[in-house]
Amino acid sequence: IKNIAVLTSGGDAPGMNACIRAVIRTGIYNGINMFGVMQGYQGLINNNINPMDARSVSNIIHMGGTILKTARCLEFKTEEGMEIAFQNLKSRDIDGLVVIGGDGTFTGAQRFGAKYGVRVMGVPGTIDNDLYGSDFTLGYDTAINTVIEAIDKIRDTADSHDRLFFVEVMGRDSGCIALRSGVASGAEAILLPEKETSLDELIAQLETGASTKKSSSIVIVSEGNKHGGAYDIAKKVKERFNHYDTKVTILGHLQRGGSPSSFDRILGSRLGFAAVNELLKGNTMQMVGLRGNDISTTSIEEALTRHFFKLESDLLEMTKVLSI
Ligand code: ATP
Repeated sequence: IKNIAVLTSGGDAPGMNACIRAVIRTGIYNGINMFGVMQGYQGLINNNINPMDARSVSNIIHMGGTILKTARCLEFKTEEGMEIAFQNLKSRDIDGLVVIGGDGTFTGAQRFGAKYGVRVMGVPGTIDNDLYGSDFTLGYDTAINTVIEAIDKIRDTADSHDRLFFVEVMGRDSGCIALRSGVASGAEAILLPEKETSLDELIAQLETGASTKKSSSIVIVSEGNKHGGAYDIAKKVKERFNHYDTKVTILGHLQRGGSPSSFDRILGSRLGFAAVNELLKGNTMQMVGLRGNDISTTSIEEALTRHFFKLESDLLEMTKVLSI
C-alpha cells in the first residue's frame, strides 16, 4: 500500500476530526501518501480528492463535525457511480480507503472493495451507537453529554414550576442515547425502542412520583419508541394524568454537534491509528472497533449483519430502582 484516502460519510459525529487527524498522521508517519476525500462518496465521484499532509489536520482534534464534510450520495449506489469513483482513485494510485460512517457507509465500502479490490477499512462513526463490533461508536459519548447538559437545564425549570417534561432524544432504532442520558440525568422514565413500556405503566410510575411529592418529572422519549413522538405521548398522558403542567422539548440536531468529549477524541485517535495500521498489515473489508478497552477488528460483513442488544442490563434495571 502506497496511497490511502480517507472520507466521512452519512451523518456527522463529534470525534470524526480526531479520527481524520489520526488516519492522516499515522499514514504519513509510515511513509504513505495520504488523501482526503470531500463529501463522502460524492467526492470520490466528483474527483474532489486532495493530498493531505501532517499540517492539514492541525488544530482540528477539538472540533465537532468533519473537516472533510459528509454527504448522502445516491449515485454511489449505482454501478456507474462506483466505476467513476474507482477511476478517480486509480488515476492517483490510491489502493487503500478508510471510511468513517454508519451502516450505509459500510455497505457502500463493502460493495466497492469486493468489486474493485481497493482495500477498505471502516471506522464506526455515528452518535446512535447502533453498530455491531464496537461497544461505543464515535460521537455517542459526546451526544450523551450534550443531552445531559440540556436536561440539567430543563430540570431547573421543571423543578421550579412543578412540571412534567417529555424530552425527545435521537438514536433512530437504538435506545442507547436515551438509556445512558436517562440514567445520567436522573430521569423518572425512559421510553426505549428495544423495550416496550406501556402508557399504563408510565402513568402508574408518574402517579407514584406525584404521590411521593416529586416536584418535577422528566421522561426521556427515544425517537424510535413504539408510542410515537414526544408531542403525541405527552398528549395521551395529559388526558389521564394532570398533577403537573406538561411540556415537551425535542432536542433535535444540537445532539449531533459540539466539541467532542475526551472519550471521543481518544476513541477517534485510537480507531484512526488502528485503521491505518490494519491496512498496512494487508487487511481489508474490516471495521475497527472498541471492545472492552481493546481495539479489535470485525469483518464489515459481520458488522452489517449481526445485530445484538446493546443496552446494558444493569442500566435498564436500575432505571426503575433509582427513580423512586
Ligand atoms: P448514519 O448512521 O449516520 O445515517 P450511514 O453511513 O448509515 O450513517 P447512509 O446515508 O445510510 O448513512 O449511507 C451513507 C452513504 O453510503 C450513502 O449516501 C451512499 O452514498 C452510501 N451507501 C449506502 N448504501 C449503499 C449501497 N447499498 N451501495 C453503495 N453505497 C451505499
